[in-house]
Amino acid sequence: EVKVSRLSKRFGGNAVLHDITFTIADGEFFTLLGPSGCGKSTTLACIAGLERPTSGSIAVGPATFVDSGTFVPPEGRNLGMVFQSYALWPHMTVAQNLAMPLKIRKVERRRQDELIAEALGKVGLAELKDRYPHQLSGGQQQRVALARALVYSPSVLLLDEPLSNLDAQLREQARAWLKRLQAELGITTVYVTHDQEEALALSDRIAVMSEGDMVQIGTPKEIYETPATARVAAFVGRCN
Ligand code: ATP
Ligand code: MG
Repeated sequence: EVKVSRLSKRFGGNAVLHDITFTIADGEFFTLLGPSGCGKSTTLACIAGLERPTSGSIAVGPATFVDSGTFVPPEGRNLGMVFQSYALWPHMTVAQNLAMPLKIRKVERRRQDELIAEALGKVGLAELKDRYPHQLSGGQQQRVALARALVYSPSVLLLDEPLSNLDAQLREQARAWLKRLQAELGITTVYVTHDQEEALALSDRIAVMSEGDMVQIGTPKEIYETPATARVAAFVGRCN
């Protein structure tokens, strides 16, 4: 369970998150949806520990990550992250890319090889382990980035627009594939997108954000059929 309670964040005089609250159940695919600048990535960065909230609390299972007086650094949180800008290291092979987080965690060498094979198997790329990133397609690179996030068995997966640099066709494929992987692994996932269709297709529940506020949380059906405000209706309906 991921519990975010009354999360606020300000950058200097600019308040970008106002009292955001939501709870994600174990195994749930939970999407933060909203237009550019509404605070999705900032919310994710606070969960990851890359940003320090101005106030509020964040807990995963029994572990409190953020509270007044508590701040667990990112490396203490055991979360898997794929951000659009988190590219693979170009001078390392696929296997070496995946080994990096394991080395940081001081996993012994033999076990590293097993975990790397396992993670690449999950994303269906076991046979590409000795390739360099430039020898992979964009879609394959995203899957390797996902394998790298999965390799140390994180409790929660944080995905910030992981498909946004793919072309329309690859995106479609990656979406289907991500959904299948999520069903197989059942890992709790916080997904960020500004793409309404993608959110409706992938999510168990969607949280719609607007200008730093949480506007509505519900299943895709609820969000689509009974939007809480005209703004949600306009935003979710626009593409359909
Ligand atoms: P997008 O869909 O474009 O990625 P987003 O919903 O992820 O948008 P955020 O990146 O969370 O939006 O940004 C929310 C607001 O906070 C924006 O106005 C942004 O300029 C501001 N912001 C984000 N990070 C910082 C920072 N490190 N310093 C100052 N302002 C920031
Ligand atoms: Mg963003």
